Amino acid sequence: MIYFIGAGPGAPDLITVRGARLLAEADLILYAGSLVNPALLDGKKPGCTVRDTASMTLEEVLSAMEEAEARNFTTVRLHTGDPSLYGAIQEQMDALDARGISYDVTPGVSAFSGAAAALEAEYTLPSVSQSVIITRMAGRTPVPEGEELRKLASHGCTMVLFLSTGLLERVEEELLAGGYAPDTPAAIVYKATWPEERVFRCTVSTLASTARAHHITKTALITVGDFLGKDYERSKLYDPDFTHGCRQGRTP
Ligand code: SAH
Repeated sequence: MIYFIGAGPGAPDLITVRGARLLAEADLILYAGSLVNPALLDGKKPGCTVRDTASMTLEEVLSAMEEAEARNFTTVRLHTGDPSLYGAIQEQMDALDARGISYDVTPGVSAFSGAAAALEAEYTLPSVSQSVIITRMAGRTPVPEGEELRKLASHGCTMVLFLSTGLLERVEEELLAGGYAPDTPAAIVYKATWPEERVFRCTVSTLASTARAHHITKTALITVGDFLGKDYERSKLYDPDFTHGCRQGRTP
């Protein structure tokens, strides 16, 4: 059996309870070494084989899984954050289906949740933004037509950019072309939830210079939008005058 597991954003205690249990039972752990905190491997059982997949191809990962299956092993495929985001798990699951190998997916805390915690911010503030666009800047890996950053930016809502820290000059251009004002608040969150976590607050027009000044080139998320500002309306949910399924509002 192959268990795809979300490792969480970095802090070893941010893996789910289920993920940690399966990790402790694994005979083979295949982990994405470039991003997963190696401290997560501390709980592995004696005799467990650990392989870093950073330098492996999909084919090599699949043969390692097949070999482990032939020996009746429990295999954990450990992906950073939540595996459903930029995790390249679909191609692994489809290849396992084709080989008749069973698997199971355990979700994880994504880096975008870790970043919000680091920022002590709420992405969906009433009257500010009720939508979060998760995307990336097209680089060596393109994005499909229609998902150009400037198009997505035209909504003016909260945006979270993965995999884009090395492309911030272009990110700035695209966000401005899409309609964000140059002074729209933005933040770069480096290694959210890791001991070396850093938060750099800036604006859309100073993203690139901020990253340069602090030598941030990777393992960071870019967050953009007025959710990082000061103004918002309080929620209806906890408003004493508002009636909903669980509470009778005060009559004015
Ligand atoms: N599946 C992962 C994302 C993998 S893509 C998730 O759900 O979080 C890898 C990108 O995620 C990195 O280039 C970086 O942009 C972002 N990232 C991963 N971990 C991060 C962290 N702890 N802090 C900030 N960004 C992180």
